[in-house]
Amino acid sequence: MKKLIDGAVAFRQNDFETHEQLFSELGRQQNPHTLFIGCSDSRLVPAMITTTQPGELFIVRNVANIVPPYQRSGEYLATISAIEFAIQALEVENIVICGHSNCGGCAALYQPAAYFDKLPHTRKWLELALPVKEKVLAMLPEGSHASREWLTEQMNIVEQIHHLLTYPYIAEKYEKGLLTISGWYYIIETGEIYSYNSAKGFFELIN
Ligand SMILES: [Zn+2]
Repeated sequence: MKKLIDGAVAFRQNDFETHEQLFSELGRQQNPHTLFIGCSDSRLVPAMITTTQPGELFIVRNVANIVPPYQRSGEYLATISAIEFAIQALEVENIVICGHSNCGGCAALYQPAAYFDKLPHTRKWLELALPVKEKVLAMLPEGSHASREWLTEQMNIVEQIHHLLTYPYIAEKYEKGLLTISGWYYIIETGEIYSYNSAKGFFELIN
């Protein structure tokens, strides 16, 4: 805990002073351009990998960067309400769904039932991604652990894009060209970011 408090002191003395004007402007309002939906993983740092300042990203994070389908919106209010607020109240122009390499949430889909004995809510949450596992097992019935891992992580991102489009207000804005939707796959150890090209059906390096 001391590390965090020392960090708070250092922040106020250093970064805050550097950006004092920006924080002053942000004091009363935010006008983010992007809804960033990322995994909760500590190694994924949205502002760092996008080189963005406070006020630019409205961030939703959860285990395995999942977007519940709209028809189940009553069950998963935390994620759904944040998405709704970003689109309907803040009127962001972009949505980025960002998954990553070595994702523990995606890997957990392949764990035996006993793994979830102490993780009952994690198990229920990850049920939303079980269709991804089924697709991967159908595509790679004999696949290695490594090949299943990256395919699951990438297909999970594509699945969540489809889920986003089940939201009527997102589909409407997307079809009118008022909203972009991107699916990013971030490789932790290289810093590479691959973006899903829906026309080609695969991820392309963008950085
Ligand atoms: Zn993850």
